[in-house]
Amino acid sequence: MSVRAAPVASAAARVVHLHPVAQACSSAQALPAVLKERGQREVFCGLTGIVWLHRKIQDAFFLVVGSRTCAHLIQSAAGVMIFAEPRFATAILDERDLAGLADANEELDKVVQRLLARRPDIKTLFLVGSCPSEVIKLDLSRAAQRLSAQFMPQVRVLNYSGSGIETTFTQGEDACLAALVPVLPELPANSNATHLMVVGALPDVVEDQLGRLLQQIGIPQVGFLPARHSQQMPQVGPGTRYLLAQPFLGETARMLETRGALRIAAPFPIGVEGTTAWLEAAAAAFGIPASRVAEVTASARTRATAALARLRDTLAGRSVFFFPDSQLEVPIARFLARELGMQLTEVGTPYLHREHMAQELAWLPSGVQLSEGQHVENQLDRCRAMQPDITVCGLGLANPLEAEGLTTKWAIELVFTPIHGYEQAADLAELFARPLRRAALLRAGLAA
Ligand code: SF4
Repeated sequence: MSVRAAPVASAAARVVHLHPVAQACSSAQALPAVLKERGQREVFCGLTGIVWLHRKIQDAFFLVVGSRTCAHLIQSAAGVMIFAEPRFATAILDERDLAGLADANEELDKVVQRLLARRPDIKTLFLVGSCPSEVIKLDLSRAAQRLSAQFMPQVRVLNYSGSGIETTFTQGEDACLAALVPVLPELPANSNATHLMVVGALPDVVEDQLGRLLQQIGIPQVGFLPARHSQQMPQVGPGTRYLLAQPFLGETARMLETRGALRIAAPFPIGVEGTTAWLEAAAAAFGIPASRVAEVTASARTRATAALARLRDTLAGRSVFFFPDSQLEVPIARFLARELGMQLTEVGTPYLHREHMAQELAWLPSGVQLSEGQHVENQLDRCRAMQPDITVCGLGLANPLEAEGLTTKWAIELVFTPIHGYEQAADLAELFARPLRRAALLRAGLAA
């Protein structure tokens, strides 16, 4: 086993509150029919999450136990950062490991020992499984326990799978956060205070904005999972109310509930409407009226609404087609339709968590075609037949579709760009407006 140090561097069973608007919608409108598809997929694997998670948890290290392909994926996705210490690397399983000639556990222990001796700044080490480590059935959970016992209390060693066999794209984050939940500090049983936990990795700037709003609204104890440092991970227990910031965290939610936390049902903080409803749901869970949310958010809402109005001319009436990629498709589609007047042709998503997504589904325009899972050839046929103005898809599909004259938007950009909250609403809309303007200019140039 050799190490490719990254030269880079760097069902919801119990719900405490149903937002009143969404409650009204859901009772008035049946959930849309969903086309379920199984077939060839065109989606990145869960290793991709390392790209944003290593920036978020600043004293964590992600050691992928995988192949050269895995190393190439995360290095090319993350880019090169020369001046920082890397926060991820790949322990490459070579032919001897794969053939069972070397003891992969022994090799892994040596790699980890060398890494931790050289990097005393690492406080949490994630061993990240991949397709090769799963194929040879390397038990990373046992390895994590063994290594944790060896390096505690300086370093906690955890494991999760980012393998393409088990995960798609954003599911890597779900698996990583779910691995953190059992080791979150216990909220003392005698604590009378109820704590709010916001769940899902957000860029620091967005986390700060949302954290400030929640505190101004009057929620005193707000923690974020993941925290920026291992020692600051939020406490959890029966006094925890958690609010999902990302729609792809089904397993993390399940794990939080095993520790007594209760989910606050809400739409996702995408766009002005989504952010307001998300904050109102949090406020209501703490007995704070919606009028307080309206007061605190008035200026941010006004600014965001004005910024969106400037983009409506470009986007209203234009059609959009979503291939399944990040599980962010439904909230983004809802935002584009309701706040910008776009027409939804098909909204594909790799997995539809019906309970976490209930408020979002109730907000979709009636008759929208939803699809879950993927049969890429069938979906390409439907996309070509519809000829949407813009198609959201993975990198592998974008170039061929552009060559056929369709305008595309890379789904991965929607994950890497700050899009949550009021201040980012127009940035999200701009991600759709820009390719449409460029396509219009190209057409005008060709016609001239
Ligand atoms: Fe490819 Fe699997 Fe490695 Fe992902 S985990 S890069 S799908 S080999």
